[in-house]
Amino acid sequence: MSGLKQKLVVLGAAESGIGAAMLGQQQGWDVFVSDGGKIKEAYKSKLDQADIGYEEGQHTEARILAADCIIKSPGIPEKAPIVKKIREAQIELCSEIEFGYRYKGDSKIIAITGSNGKSTTTKMIYHTLATAGYDVSMVGNIGKSFALQIAEAPTAWYVIEVSSFQLDDIQSFRPDIALLLNISPDHLDRYNYRYEDYIAAKFRITAYQQESDVFITNRDDKEINNYLAANPIHARTIYFTMSEQSKPNTDGAFIDNEQIHIKYDGEDTSMSIHDLSVKGKHNQYNSMAAGISARTAGIRSAKIRESFSTFEGIAHRLEFVATVRGVDFINDSKATNVNSVWFALESMKKPVVLILGGQDKGNDYNEIKDLVAEKVKAIVCLGIDNKNIHDFFGSMVPTIVDTQSAKDAVLAAYSLAEKNDVVLLAPACASFDLFQNYEDRGDQFKEAVRSL
Ligand code: ADP
Repeated sequence: MSGLKQKLVVLGAAESGIGAAMLGQQQGWDVFVSDGGKIKEAYKSKLDQADIGYEEGQHTEARILAADCIIKSPGIPEKAPIVKKIREAQIELCSEIEFGYRYKGDSKIIAITGSNGKSTTTKMIYHTLATAGYDVSMVGNIGKSFALQIAEAPTAWYVIEVSSFQLDDIQSFRPDIALLLNISPDHLDRYNYRYEDYIAAKFRITAYQQESDVFITNRDDKEINNYLAANPIHARTIYFTMSEQSKPNTDGAFIDNEQIHIKYDGEDTSMSIHDLSVKGKHNQYNSMAAGISARTAGIRSAKIRESFSTFEGIAHRLEFVATVRGVDFINDSKATNVNSVWFALESMKKPVVLILGGQDKGNDYNEIKDLVAEKVKAIVCLGIDNKNIHDFFGSMVPTIVDTQSAKDAVLAAYSLAEKNDVVLLAPACASFDLFQNYEDRGDQFKEAVRSL
C-alpha cells in the first residue's frame, strides 16, 4: 500500500526533524529521514519503534528527490548542496512548524520571535497560561518539537518559540497571536550578511496573519518601526513601549512611574516593576509583551500579576551564581549577541569584570562601547580567536587577558576583581569554538565558580 502514500522526507534528525517524522507517520505519509551527520541513539530508537526508515552520514539524492514534500531542519542552511538540488527540482520544502501547523486542528497558537528574549518570554507566557489553568504546551526552539507535541499530546493552546530559520520556510503558518520582540544583528552569517534579509525573515511571523489575529511588537525598536513604515501588516497590531511619547491611549503596554501597565479591552493591569520576579530592563520589555499576549488570550489581571511575581526565569540568562569574598558571579552564557550584552551591562550596578568572546558571528561592538567604558574595568577573553576584542577594546579597557577554558577565565576574572565587583559571563558570541553549546559553557562557568 505504501506506493499509494504521499512521500515525506525529513532532512536532519534532531528534535524538530524527529517530531515531524512522527507526525507525518501518524498522518499517513510514507516517511523517510535523512541526516548528513550522526543521529543520536535515543532518536534512532524512536524511529525504529515507529518503523520509520532513516539514513545517517549521507543524503541519498534519488530517494530525497522522489519526495512529494520535504521538511528541512532549521540547522541546515539554504546553501547546502542538497537544498539547492531540492530547489532546482521544485519540490515543496517546509519547516517543521509549518508542517505541524497543518495538523493542529482548532487549537490556538501564540508564537514568539525576536533577536533576544524569545525563550524568556515564551516561558513567561506559558507560565501565565498554565497558572490560569489553560490546557497549554510550550514548544519550538525552547525544547520540544511542535509537531511531536501535536502527534503525542495535543493541547488547546501552543506557545511556540520560533527562530528566523523556522520562519524562512513557512507557507501558511498563521499564529492567532504573534510576537516580534526586537531586532538586532544576529546570525548574519546565515543571511549572506544582509541585515535586511534577517529583518524580513523575522517579520514572516505575521506574514499569514489576518485582521482577526493580533501582532504584538516593540514601539521602541528602530528596525521594527522602519519596516512597519514601509510594509503594511494585516493583523491588528498592539505595541509595548518604554518611551513617554509612544504611550498608547487604548490597548498596549507601557511603563510609568516604575509601574508596568498592560491596557487591553478596557482593563488596565498594573504592577510595580519591583514586583516582577525577573530583573533588568529587558525583562520589563519581556513582561509587557507577555502581559498583552496573556490579556489577548483572555486572562484576567489578577492571574497575570500572580504569575509575573512567581515566574522563575531560566538558567544561563543573567543567572546569579554565587558571591565569593565579596565578588558576585553572574552567568549570562546565553548572551550570544552584542545587544543582549548591552542589556546585561545596563543592569549591572557594580564595576564589572567582563568575560567576553567565543565564535564571533560578525560582531559590531559599537553598541556596547559606552557601557563598557563606564562599567567594565577588565575584560577576560574566552575564545580561540580574540583578535576582534583586542582590536576594539584595546585602547579603552586597561586590562584584557586571554583564556581558553571556563576554569582559567574564572580564575583570571577572580584575580582581577576586588570586593564589591561583579564578574559577568556575557560572551556576545556563540560557544562552539570551545564548548558543546551555551549551556555547557554556562555549566562549566558555574562549576569553576563553585570550586573557587
Ligand atoms: P533568545 O531565546 O531570544 O535567545 P533568551 O530569553 O534566551 O532569548 O535570552 C537571551 C539573552 O538575551 C540573555 O542573555 C538574556 O539575558 C538577554 N535578553 C532577554 N530578553 C531580552 C530582551 N528583551 N532584549 C535584549 N536582551 C534580552
